[in-house]
Amino acid sequence: MTKRFDKTHPEKIRCDACPVMCYISEGRAGACDRYANEGGELIRLDPLTILDVTDQAVVPFLGEGSTEDWDGDIVGGSRPFVTAVGAGTTYPDYKPAPFIVSQDVDGVDMITVVTEGIFSYCGVKVKIDTDRHIGDERDVVYVDGEPIGHVMTSEYGSKMLSLGGVEHLTGGSKAEGRVTCAALMALCNREAVEMAVGGDCTKLVVQAGKPPVIDGEEERLMRVGCGSATIGMFAKQWLEHADEVVVVDDHITGILSEHEAGKQLGMKPTGIRIHGRRSTPGRYFQVAEPGRGWGGTNIEDPLTILKPFKPDVAWEGLRLLMVSTTGEQFAYYELDAELRPVARSIPQTLIKSTELIAENCEPSVCSVLFMAGAGGSLRAGVTENPVRLTRSVKDALTHVSCGGAEAYVWPGGGITVMVDVMEMPEMSFGYVPTPALVAPMEFTMRAEDYAALGGHVEFARPASEVAVDDTRRVVGGTHNPQARKNFSWGEK
Ligand code: SF4
Repeated sequence: MTKRFDKTHPEKIRCDACPVMCYISEGRAGACDRYANEGGELIRLDPLTILDVTDQAVVPFLGEGSTEDWDGDIVGGSRPFVTAVGAGTTYPDYKPAPFIVSQDVDGVDMITVVTEGIFSYCGVKVKIDTDRHIGDERDVVYVDGEPIGHVMTSEYGSKMLSLGGVEHLTGGSKAEGRVTCAALMALCNREAVEMAVGGDCTKLVVQAGKPPVIDGEEERLMRVGCGSATIGMFAKQWLEHADEVVVVDDHITGILSEHEAGKQLGMKPTGIRIHGRRSTPGRYFQVAEPGRGWGGTNIEDPLTILKPFKPDVAWEGLRLLMVSTTGEQFAYYELDAELRPVARSIPQTLIKSTELIAENCEPSVCSVLFMAGAGGSLRAGVTENPVRLTRSVKDALTHVSCGGAEAYVWPGGGITVMVDVMEMPEMSFGYVPTPALVAPMEFTMRAEDYAALGGHVEFARPASEVAVDDTRRVVGGTHNPQARKNFSWGEK
């Protein structure tokens, strides 16, 4: 890092790690709390993080999960990997990356180029395992009254949010950019963030790896499937114990006797009639409005979705089970002489079937995936000819990781990556007040491939030299960024 004194600020040094170019007094930190002036030297406050790549799950920084300092050698069958967490940023872009690390990996000379990138173009995709209605597609998501993203297309059993992105970071007011940046950083660092969704203001608390809290209520289970799938999976459980089963679901409500599964098992018609739009036999859309009731609908009384039974088909004493897609809500009825459902205590065999549905539901969690494109400093920090790096990534000669975690590289142009923050070391993310997120990214390749793409080979230094006293060592996940299988040449 360049140390600069300025005539107008003789007692301060200037940080040139990002476009803000802070003047920092002795003993103080810069605007992002990542750099400080210590005795006239500019220092990076968080230590460089080194992963021990093992089969264990990622744990917090060294000290909480390890007792040894790394000596620069392979330890206990695992291999150290220098991550970009705490490595520092470079600005302007043409400067070589803070660390260009050379290492012999099973007889292959490897290079890892390590930088904390500054991302104005970045965001997170959030998957929330719940059936409950949190808002309509395209509803705006607010934090502290500022719009930071929106509800996007639901996935199977989960609601999805798209948060952040350059439009919110730079395209709105100063407050919008600042709040968006703070929310993204907190989410990526696995902290809880409170949000309000849409016009009816659902209150959400989202935290990576934890269940969502929706309007003060913690979600427990992710549904086993849609109503139709639930019928298909559990049809046999209901044979001989019920004449009709309705699985209530906001998207596809299933009716056993009409469903192909029921037909193939010999269920006879019951004369049941239901609100909503029939798609195919036994599968109904829009039986109610979305909500926080049964199966993600707004109903608390399941009978409200039924119309009168057909009198020429139904019969007195017909046994009807209604159940939600998580098995958490259920009710049992028998038809009286007027063919009206009358609530009865549910037989034990049917309780067991609802318990089986619940048992097959997975715990509800929030997943946070950081998504960003490698910009100027990241690519120019690797090579003077950045497009060669992009080609090298596409050709699987260069492997991209984020804090040592596997990054999915999107097809098409650029180096656009997506990574699960739970796979990264804790507190991997920072910010700069431009505003933008700071996130680690490493590019690993053979030394010969690095030279071929015009890399800054003269700045490479051995991994053992990088392991200075104030590094932190973290037990890595199962992903090994240096593994041969990551590279096209490794398959030969
Ligand atoms: S915001 Fe941080 S990185 Fe940017 S100049 Fe200030 S101290 Fe340096």
